[in-house]
Amino acid sequence: MEKTKRIIQKTVDWFRVHKVPLPWRESRDPYRIWISEVMLQQTRIETVIPYYQRFLEELPTVFDLAACEEEKLLKLWEGLGYYSRARNLKKCAEVLCAQCKGEFPQEAEQLEKLPGIGAYTAGAIASIAFGKRAPAVDGNVLRVMTRLFADKSDIALSKTREKIAAQLKEAYPEGAAAGDFTQGIMEIGETKCIPNGVPLCPSCPLAEECETRRQKLWEEIPYKSPKKERRIEEKTVFLLQCGEKYAIEKRADSGLLASLFGFPMADGHCSEASAREQLCRAGFAVQSIAPCGSAKHIFTHVEWHMIGFWAQVETPLPCYLWKTAPEILESVALPSAFRAFRKIIQKNG
Ligand code: SF4
Repeated sequence: MEKTKRIIQKTVDWFRVHKVPLPWRESRDPYRIWISEVMLQQTRIETVIPYYQRFLEELPTVFDLAACEEEKLLKLWEGLGYYSRARNLKKCAEVLCAQCKGEFPQEAEQLEKLPGIGAYTAGAIASIAFGKRAPAVDGNVLRVMTRLFADKSDIALSKTREKIAAQLKEAYPEGAAAGDFTQGIMEIGETKCIPNGVPLCPSCPLAEECETRRQKLWEEIPYKSPKKERRIEEKTVFLLQCGEKYAIEKRADSGLLASLFGFPMADGHCSEASAREQLCRAGFAVQSIAPCGSAKHIFTHVEWHMIGFWAQVETPLPCYLWKTAPEILESVALPSAFRAFRKIIQKNG
């Protein structure tokens, strides 16, 4: 407990002097903090900044988000990936507007009851916006804390996360220091106790407290049990062109990229002949067909290995939506899985 208190104090002192200015640090508005925290999950800070600014220009309040059309929301999110995050934001905003007059609850336990808000995000909002004693334990915090205590627990397990949250909660500060510690320890994880490569211990404000540094255990800690290998799925993507328009479809409402728009796809890698045959069977009169490249997209547990065919067809069958390249580029939120094929239509108009 004494050591944890010292770690907290040193982190707060360091953060107040060294914090990097970021747009979401200019405000204690829980809405802005929430949006930034959700965007920052699985996405790098430099990537998030322009998205964050554009999002708040378009949707400056929780009421604007609750009332936003899904298509517009997904377009604002296009390129950030993990679209369920955007949908959950909207769901949560609707609940806040309907049940809480648009006000965020201040306690982490209450925030966690809202749709899409987990323990980490609840802790971040409660501590940064409301100065509550609420730990927010992400991968950075796990790495720094296990290293400080030379703790060899498996950081892939939720019980390790819970143990560290409980340890921090006992000593967590209140008021402005709560938010400064939450952000400071994450920043130490991002800039000093880095995830890949040798940690920058000589400039780390917590070096004196660190058992891993003392025992030179950097390679062993944090310990993470090996991940299961990702499943590889082969796919064939069809760029179907009829005149100036291309076919897109809304994907099924479950599974990967659920309910998002995409180009038509088939399972497996088709040969040119079988791609033509599939299109003919679907009712298309194919004027020409040719391979148009390949791409790979990595999801959490699955990899898509895609090849593409570009086909000119005679009639725009109604099983798909038909849009010009500018319409697709400007108003359809295409997941980044289709980036390589989107580039092709962008280049060819
Ligand atoms: S001293 Fe080194 S290993 Fe320890 S927390 Fe700081 S950067 Fe990480």
